[in-house]
Amino acid sequence: MSDCLFCKIVDGDIPSKKVYEDDEYLAFWDIAPKAPVHILLIPKQHIASLYHLDDSNVGVVQGMMSKAPEIARLMKLDDGFRAIVNTGDGGGQEVGHIHLHILGDVRKATWSGF
Ligand code: 5GP
Ligand code: ZN
Repeated sequence: MSDCLFCKIVDGDIPSKKVYEDDEYLAFWDIAPKAPVHILLIPKQHIASLYHLDDSNVGVVQGMMSKAPEIARLMKLDDGFRAIVNTGDGGGQEVGHIHLHILGDVRKATWSGF
């Protein structure tokens, strides 16, 4: 999608601090980390939110959940992590491309609203 911020990051039109990439997924640092480790994991395919899942794309999002522990281990979050998907305005979603927040060391988080 041409006007989607995270599609632009996938395309390299907007820079990001990448920590993982494969054919289907990209993980990069949140621009405003709310915890000592704050990574956003996204599918490269544009899916707006959990409310936009259907039979054709649900596997991509299931795969994203399976990737989460892999990314967390990569970030050395051996004692655990928090995974969050905000959905829609009521869920506090600001970027309309589905993404999984992976937060580590949340006891030191700068924001307690999760
Ligand atoms: P949401 O509120 O949609 O669940 O989360 C969007 C997240 O994207 C926020 O935590 C925000 O800090 C992050 N974000 C917004 N713009 C950018 C950007 O241009 N680059 C990166 N890396 N993160 C961004
Ligand atoms: Zn997108």
